[in-house]
Amino acid sequence: MSKNNAFVRFDKVDKSYDGKLLVVKDLNLDIAEGEFITMLGPSGSGKTTCLMMLAGFETPTNGEIYLDSNPISNIPPHKRGIGMVFQNYALFPHMTVFENLAFPLKVRKMTKDDIDKKVDKALSMVSLSGFENRMPGQLSGGQQQRVAVARALVFDPSVVLMDEPLGALDKNLRESMQYEIKHIHESIGVTVVYVTHDQSEALTMSNRIAVFNDGKVQQLSSPDKLYEEPVNSFVAEFIGENNRFDGEVLEVSNGVCKVKIGQGEMLANPISVKSKGEKTTVSIRPERALINPKNKMDNNQKGRIEEVIYHGDHTRVRINLLGNSDFILKVPNSSQNLDIKLGNEINIGWNSQDARALDPK
Ligand code: ADP
Ligand code: MG
Repeated sequence: MSKNNAFVRFDKVDKSYDGKLLVVKDLNLDIAEGEFITMLGPSGSGKTTCLMMLAGFETPTNGEIYLDSNPISNIPPHKRGIGMVFQNYALFPHMTVFENLAFPLKVRKMTKDDIDKKVDKALSMVSLSGFENRMPGQLSGGQQQRVAVARALVFDPSVVLMDEPLGALDKNLRESMQYEIKHIHESIGVTVVYVTHDQSEALTMSNRIAVFNDGKVQQLSSPDKLYEEPVNSFVAEFIGENNRFDGEVLEVSNGVCKVKIGQGEMLANPISVKSKGEKTTVSIRPERALINPKNKMDNNQKGRIEEVIYHGDHTRVRINLLGNSDFILKVPNSSQNLDIKLGNEINIGWNSQDARALDPK
């Protein structure tokens, strides 16, 4: 294994709990120092198992994990210098906030002066200065999670692992904590490996996202690439909303493909199809299709409005189009007056680049 500048490296890592079924399959992942990387995927896709192997609570069945170019299989969890915030890795209920934060420092045999300074700094980072003497039971759920974040950071770890740390919080609090954790990451530059099944959380917080399904990384990219250029229909479905059409490729030329869909045809962006006859799923984001477009677009279809739902900043319009009665459009609510009324026949247009022809798996 050659040394390189990845700070954390999963090298051909497999994991099986029962000696038969692989729940993590051939994971190869390089994480740069200071990066915020998120493992995103449905429940059971192997995310927690990956964190547990990195933390040292589980051992890879095959392969090796490197930290700062050193293999870590033989290093016990407490010597890996890794901080952790897990949804079920609660604060010690019988200790004050101060004692909870001091704990990892005492384990590391720091002096009382150093402990006081570090606890102070960590509490101010999560805006909880003055809460030293509270018991965890006297804090709200959000405050408890902030203490847990502070405890994971207090000993200046090289890497912090967070496994669904905001899962138990209500929506508003969860969103404000996402920004809070993101800002802490930006200000101290620690390497964060974050796990969530919530795509909007992943998009908000991460430098890069590894999308997991069935123990395999489906795609590893920046949030915008993941949204704009999903490599397969699993990723397209998992990240954001999509309108889908199953069809067959008629031809591919000059970066555009023609797809037969039912009785109709569509021009699309051949992301993962190459030749005539291939089956494909064409995927179009609801905000990329326009109602009664003024300019000519690559694809134009007539549809009938089946449902209109007002959402404050936008209106969701459900349309029957090419036999798909669940085609969703998102129309920004502006002063423009569009003819959006139930039952109306309208023209819908979208460009071929926004109709991604994907592998239908
Ligand atoms: P995720 O965090 O993405 O929900 P996990 O890594 O927890 O996924 O689980 C991946 C798979 O491994 C699941 O099928 C799960 O049931 C199984 N699994 C997880 N932990 C254990 C364990 N300790 N023993 C046996 N099977 C496990
Ligand atoms: Mg999990």
